Amino acid sequence: MSIPITASILYNLVQCPHRVTMDLFGNPAKKDPTNPFIQLLWEKGNEFELEVIESLNRPFTNLKAYSNEEKENLTIEAMKRGSDLIYGGRIRADDLIGEPDMLRRLNAKYIAGDIKSGAGEEGGGEDTDGKPKKHYAVQLALYVDILERLGFSERRRPFIWDVHGKEIIYDLDVSQGARKTATLWDEYQAVLEVARNIVARKESTLPAYAGICKLCHWFTACKQTLEKLDDLTLIPELGRSKRDIMLACVKCRGDFASAEIMSFVQGKKTAFPGIGIDSLIKFQDRAILQRKQGAKPYLKIPVTIPHYDRELFFDVETDPMRDVCYLHGFIERLNGNNASERYIVFFAEEPTEEEEKRAFELAWAYVNNCMPCMIYYYSAYERTIWSKLQKKYPSIATAEEIESLFNSMKATDLYHHIIRPRTEWPTYDHSIKTLASYLGFSWRDPNPSGAASIEWYHRWVKNRDPSVRQRIMDYNEDDCRAMRVLLDEIRQMS
Ligand code: SF4
Repeated sequence: MSIPITASILYNLVQCPHRVTMDLFGNPAKKDPTNPFIQLLWEKGNEFELEVIESLNRPFTNLKAYSNEEKENLTIEAMKRGSDLIYGGRIRADDLIGEPDMLRRLNAKYIAGDIKSGAGEEGGGEDTDGKPKKHYAVQLALYVDILERLGFSERRRPFIWDVHGKEIIYDLDVSQGARKTATLWDEYQAVLEVARNIVARKESTLPAYAGICKLCHWFTACKQTLEKLDDLTLIPELGRSKRDIMLACVKCRGDFASAEIMSFVQGKKTAFPGIGIDSLIKFQDRAILQRKQGAKPYLKIPVTIPHYDRELFFDVETDPMRDVCYLHGFIERLNGNNASERYIVFFAEEPTEEEEKRAFELAWAYVNNCMPCMIYYYSAYERTIWSKLQKKYPSIATAEEIESLFNSMKATDLYHHIIRPRTEWPTYDHSIKTLASYLGFSWRDPNPSGAASIEWYHRWVKNRDPSVRQRIMDYNEDDCRAMRVLLDEIRQMS
């Protein structure tokens, strides 16, 4: 019997097609243990679903406890009976199987929906609408497709009940904008076709080095494959789609590093749609550097970093599941003297607004007391989070004050202002972990990551174990110190 297409296959496919291949046909012995953060996401997802269901103020048919064929039969019976709301059903048609969280009756037919413990859309702000998430859209479209095949579908307008208590309608037949005319339904059809080809082994996939890999249970296996293939995605920022475009002409990093770059240039363009000449040269420079024996990072453009009497290396920790910023950490250094370093931390002991506000207020007062100084942070995240906190707690600071704090006279985004535009590294990516580790810095924790910190915070809130609290702080302190190590290296390079 052929493998059915499920919503989770489509969800994974949107994130990484190779994940589908590996989950279906990979050697399970080569799987990494499930990342504790992913485990936490599952648990929180289930808890949230239960909360939503328990707070439903209306009768519904509950099929959650059943499985497989019995569940399918009961779902069909419930729909034929005209149940207004069905929770935890299972629907199947041809090679498609779906388990929508909700089936809601409308005009004697059904629309499907899922309960998600995240935001129902991506992007968007106070004044702008968000966009549908493609990985949610393909799951919802699968349910609609099955309902249509079964003759139970009421329009292609499934829904998400999200973490903010909002119902978000996914209008699958509407074009996604002036530039992107395809509808979500068109996208679903394309994804479904790829899924069918992978399942039938008519289409093979390749791993691609990306940020999401670090949370994936195939990371070790895929990294080995990528290194064996000398894959182009090991070049920072090249990524899957560019690799797939280049693959017909360039098989691996070695070939690319030694290629005559002008052979790929046609007038003002390259032979690779979507990759300009400057980008191609940049990627080749990176490939050459990575493959050079004893390669060292270098400056592409000179950097002048003045000395400051006081320097702050700043990093926040946030929990997206609770939408709370729980830690503001600083390494403070005086007169460039490492012996003067001290770690200052402001921690929300509880994931509540009161505690989040208190920690932000103290961190804000501390930074202002430190002026004049230079604040270093890595990528735009700290700035984004402080702007968000300012909107939430306007009594602490004005928007102009936050804006002024992050101006270039007082603050430097090491990643966007220096690392990315001005330096090259013989590494697979430019994350602070990768670069500081390359420079010999090591984190005290054996498993340092922002995702792990969130998992520890959940444990701290639940069990109040002081060693877990300390682990969160040690990790953050090391993240801050890693920035100092990186800055000193750049000063040396300059
Ligand atoms: S490790 Fe990366 S490439 Fe491999 S399956 Fe996971 S997400 Fe895909």
